[in-house]
Amino acid sequence: MKTFAFEHATSVEGAIASVVATGGKYYAGGTNLLDLMKGGVEAPPALVDVRRLDLRNVAATESGGVHIESGVTNSAIANHPLIRSQYPVLSQAILSGATTQLRNMATAGGNLLQRTRCPYFMEAAFAQCNKRIPGSGCAATDSFNREHAIFGASDACVAIHPSDMAVALAILDAGVHVHGPEGRRTVPIADFFRLPGEEPQRDNTLRTAELITGIELPPSPFAEHSWYLKVRDRHSYAFALVSVAAGLEIEEGRIRAAAIGLGGVAAKPWRVAEAEHSLIGQVPSLDAFRAAARLVMAGAQPLSQNAFKVDLGLHSVVRALTKAAGSAGRVAG
Ligand code: SF4
Repeated sequence: MKTFAFEHATSVEGAIASVVATGGKYYAGGTNLLDLMKGGVEAPPALVDVRRLDLRNVAATESGGVHIESGVTNSAIANHPLIRSQYPVLSQAILSGATTQLRNMATAGGNLLQRTRCPYFMEAAFAQCNKRIPGSGCAATDSFNREHAIFGASDACVAIHPSDMAVALAILDAGVHVHGPEGRRTVPIADFFRLPGEEPQRDNTLRTAELITGIELPPSPFAEHSWYLKVRDRHSYAFALVSVAAGLEIEEGRIRAAAIGLGGVAAKPWRVAEAEHSLIGQVPSLDAFRAAARLVMAGAQPLSQNAFKVDLGLHSVVRALTKAAGSAGRVAG
């Protein structure tokens, strides 16, 4: 590991000034960043520790939603009474990821900023990776790519974003609060992550030195009927091959609102508006869910080794919608 400076920030403004001055990175839980630094994938000249900024609160908002500060750990979010009762799909998604120890360290902000687990990105010995070394090529395009994207990829990069939490946030229409040298702004979660295009080194739309300070959830229509389904190679401590966050609002036996988000299939949580709209006004049924699933997967463009994700995605969407419709959706216990 290369040497680097380490600073404790005591204010948001001070943290931003430090990152501007040093060209460093913010440090919170460190569960992904430190691994990447140890492996030589990341080498920031400085880490600016934001753990003393007192961004560790979860609170109801005046509009009936919830605000989660960026330093709240994944465990604390998943187990918070407001999240469990009003946003159970978020609780489920977080608890499906990583391990208890990692969830106790990882923060809300860091979860969004974690980087792809594409093996050619994670291992600095590989010479080809446009995300790690822009312009070097993409080793995954014609090689090991069973875990990679089937939507939204480019010739430059076929990686996926690994976050489970982000998939749930996508169907909840979360807003990401950021603070940077030019002030504060809120980025809709749909606009936060970016597809690789010609610049796969940029995972998201954050500007230089912007710090995530919180995540805002509007009131959810899906508290009663939601589900997070994660399909992976082993039951724990594995990233999704395909995951589905499904939310339904059902009134008098018919679907009034629907949201379907897929993880493990693109560089951002994947939603297809046409599929969601197809469910509005329908009586929840397997036929309706199968039709919606076909619309979700219609645009899939699998790679040489991951055509199985198309079929897996179809079945996963149907399963997640069925579970969402048929259960109270709340996390037990
Ligand atoms: Fe790198 Fe993206 Fe290609 Fe993986 S898929 S090797 S992250 S450019």
